[in-house]
Amino acid sequence: MTWQSPIAPGVSWYQSTVTDRPEYPALDGSASADVVIVGGGFTGLQAAYNLAKAGTRVVLIDAVRFGDGASGRNGGQMGTGQRTEVEELEKTLGFERAKALFDLAENAKKHLLGFAETHGIDIEYLPGQLNVAHKAGWEKDYRDHVEITATRYGYKHMSFMDQAETSERLGSKRYFCGTRDTGTGHIHPLKLLVGLARVAAAAGASLHEMTPARSVTREGGKIVVKTDRGDIRADRALIACNGYIGNLEPVNAARVMPIRSFIGATVPLANHPEIIPGNEAIADSRFVVRYFRKSRDGRLLFGGREAYTADNPRDITQHIRRQIAELYPQLKDVEISHAWGGSVGITMPRQPFAREVMPGVTAIGGYSGHGVMLSNYCGKLFADDVLSGSGELDLLKTLKIPAFPGGSHLRKPLLFLALSWYALRDRF
Ligand SMILES: Cc1cc2nc3c(=O)[nH]c(=O)nc-3n(C[C@H](O)[C@H](O)[C@H](O)COP(=O)(O)OP(=O)(O)OC[C@H]3O[C@@H](n4cnc5c(N)ncnc54)[C@H](O)[C@@H]3O)c2cc1C
Repeated sequence: MTWQSPIAPGVSWYQSTVTDRPEYPALDGSASADVVIVGGGFTGLQAAYNLAKAGTRVVLIDAVRFGDGASGRNGGQMGTGQRTEVEELEKTLGFERAKALFDLAENAKKHLLGFAETHGIDIEYLPGQLNVAHKAGWEKDYRDHVEITATRYGYKHMSFMDQAETSERLGSKRYFCGTRDTGTGHIHPLKLLVGLARVAAAAGASLHEMTPARSVTREGGKIVVKTDRGDIRADRALIACNGYIGNLEPVNAARVMPIRSFIGATVPLANHPEIIPGNEAIADSRFVVRYFRKSRDGRLLFGGREAYTADNPRDITQHIRRQIAELYPQLKDVEISHAWGGSVGITMPRQPFAREVMPGVTAIGGYSGHGVMLSNYCGKLFADDVLSGSGELDLLKTLKIPAFPGGSHLRKPLLFLALSWYALRDRF
């Protein structure tokens, strides 16, 4: 029977195309380790792999199956830099820290591609990313962005696209201008996730699915993670639960909130060579970003609709098809073979969250829709820090990530109101 994630709706196209997805046993009794990790997405599994290969005893647990979180169900777009553009970051953080964050993301990009290559994981990488303007009058901003990124940040892979080039590269006339980035691309995220789990297990990490953590505390100098199947005692812990944190740990939960995003995959578009002929990934300028790309087998994978409550839409495909048809009227009746959703962990300033939430316990997440490459790298940086005190996560730990206002009861309704307001503005 097809596995249906208990924490996210729909069976993804990724899941249908990964034929060999090993199961990992639930924890069976109490355990001890040097490091315990809660959360088996990219962040947690990269940390587990890098620690285990250095001989550290690691136990990692996930509430469900690896890849049921955001890491196995996302848009696969790697992007460049952070979720917040360098111009914004410079205003609040100054040039040096903005540049350090940009460089960290460049390292993350190299790390992801290098990791997949080293371990022979076919992540179906396709190069190219287009960022496009859904409103007129932003040409100067887009040109300036290319210029600033090249001259101040040393990134030479981006060029400006006027309306004609934008239309030609998208096969749609709905956008006004854009940037073309040849220094990044898009991947099949579940293939990376499954490969990563396999490599981490082979390195000696003790990996457990279907084992939710019920609490994380300090007792008698050790960190104790309680589960229904036993306790795990360790010297250090990583909380890598991102948008699925729930109430597990209050500091993290107050700062990383879930937004649910939905994706649809069409059947292969053999008769539409005009649609994204260069196979780039595309993200638009809406607050509720529309992000789309073609898979290696020629499907359109289209993400857009968001939800700010826990309810699942009754029919994901209907909204996705309407959004596709706005750009590509010729696809108004296209068959959508797969539709699914997942929770994106966002922070107030749309910058990643990394913090010591209690002595010996680090929490990392909140990449705000930009975590495909960052989460993999942050997991590795956590491991480096444990192994050698590298301090490379300090850049993220010093970012000011405030709690969402409203306390634990009002936080979600307030977020709903704020985000709905911004989403509404996309229409004007
Ligand atoms: C629909 C969608 C589209 C996206 N598109 C993009 C994109 O195109 N580009 C991009 O860069 N980013 C994108 N993202 C974001 C990106 O996927 C994430 O930033 C990244 O995968 C985060 O990885 P993670 O390991 O930190 O968290 P996750 O992959 O979410 O993993 C967290 C894990 O923690 C587990 N967990 C939670 N609570 C507990 C508990 N109590 N006990 C045990 N386990 C627990 C969960 O089960 C889950 O497996 C998208 C996300 C979604 C949902």
